[in-house]
Amino acid sequence: MKFNKPFYLWSVFIASVALFLAPLAQAGSVQNHRPEHDELVAKYRPVLMERFLKYTTYDSQSANDQDITPEQIETAQKLFAEIKALGFNTQLTEHYYIYVEIPSNVAHPTPVLGFSSHYDTTPDVAGKNIHANVIKKYDGNPIVLKNGHVLDFNTDPYLKQMVGKTIVTSDGTTMLSGDDKAGVSIMVTLLQTLKENPQLKHGKVQIVITPNEDVGRSADYIEETPYRPDLAFDFDGKVNGEVTVGNFNAEKVIYRVKGVNGHQSHAAENGYRNAWKPACELGAICAKEEWLPNKSTGTQGYAELHHMNMVEGKMSEAELDFRLRSFKQADIDAWKDYAQQKADSIAKKYDVQIERQVFKQYQNVAENIHPQARAVAQNALRRAGVTPHFQEERAGTTASMLMLKLGKGAYTIFTGQQNAHNFTEWLSEEDMFKSYWVALNMLDEVAALREPDALPHHADNYIHPSER
Ligand SMILES: [Zn+2]
Repeated sequence: MKFNKPFYLWSVFIASVALFLAPLAQAGSVQNHRPEHDELVAKYRPVLMERFLKYTTYDSQSANDQDITPEQIETAQKLFAEIKALGFNTQLTEHYYIYVEIPSNVAHPTPVLGFSSHYDTTPDVAGKNIHANVIKKYDGNPIVLKNGHVLDFNTDPYLKQMVGKTIVTSDGTTMLSGDDKAGVSIMVTLLQTLKENPQLKHGKVQIVITPNEDVGRSADYIEETPYRPDLAFDFDGKVNGEVTVGNFNAEKVIYRVKGVNGHQSHAAENGYRNAWKPACELGAICAKEEWLPNKSTGTQGYAELHHMNMVEGKMSEAELDFRLRSFKQADIDAWKDYAQQKADSIAKKYDVQIERQVFKQYQNVAENIHPQARAVAQNALRRAGVTPHFQEERAGTTASMLMLKLGKGAYTIFTGQQNAHNFTEWLSEEDMFKSYWVALNMLDEVAALREPDALPHHADNYIHPSER
């Protein structure tokens, strides 16, 4: 991340304030622990499941080659109508993002809490006419689905923990679409809970439900929504307890080597220069041993030459496409400096032009996360009887794409979805329920935080990263 100064200073300021406020927040959360939550969530558990099963019947596959699919439009309209009927300030944007805002009902200023999820499903697996298969009191035996698909302990060790519990699978002819109908069901059931229980205390809450996540474009039109939380969580994770707190920064770097056009047979006179030798030299020198993907584990990144191209019949031009991944932006910047030095010297050596273009793809959410995010997640999980398992993902997340656009990080919370993008996709009913409970707990965890009036809300002072 190219830290812009005011933003960085804000982070430092917020962090210092947070250190001062942390003990108060902790005390607040203990004080706010409401035993009646146990009863309240138990009441909504069957509602959540029923809603999830209903949503599995909504076709909502996204497509790589379409801005929005008719199935997504239909699903967005149904969800919008359902949420609006609950009486909340709800918007359906031009690009079918659903946005909901709930005003604060506490007197003191709190951070704006954001929740995100996505209603589209992957185009990679059959996803029309889904028939969910509910298995109550799972007996531990292999689950045989249509078309020869089988779920068992070998392929899914986590199933062992589901014995005696309720799980949902597809019938084997399609995916289940728990990714991310689980997250959407949690959001809408949370809204219903708030509507029917106005005594629940919360600060300002913003919810966004996006299209096109599974084709990597969930952040594309986020600017047209007013979604600008201070402290945010994405509900699209998997196993009970998992909280994704970090991910790769990702950049794509294109080098274009431009030689000189002309006929080879008169190159000595017309100055023709092939682009391939300098391009190959640049490709080879940039493949530094310590940056190879096979040397990269944990939070260490890599740089890879993804592919090289040439325009057919035009040997004077070559294109190199590098993909850079690292948890630390400084590593990516160091690689870019190194590559640029080499590009400059190769351009000189062969008397060609070498141009560079950099595309940021997604960003590590840990680079600008609210100082209370971890404490809020930890308390919310523990109060739902869940042991937090904070982890880092060697990939991008929806939150990391939103991070790039909004400049604010979010953690990804488990939802009970398993084996996504597969005929053997399944859902743990208990994990989905616990995730809903966690979301509910987050409301009063954040309501217990106090941010001084001096801290302006991000939403009112929002400047798009490109304008900073
Ligand atoms: Zn997802």
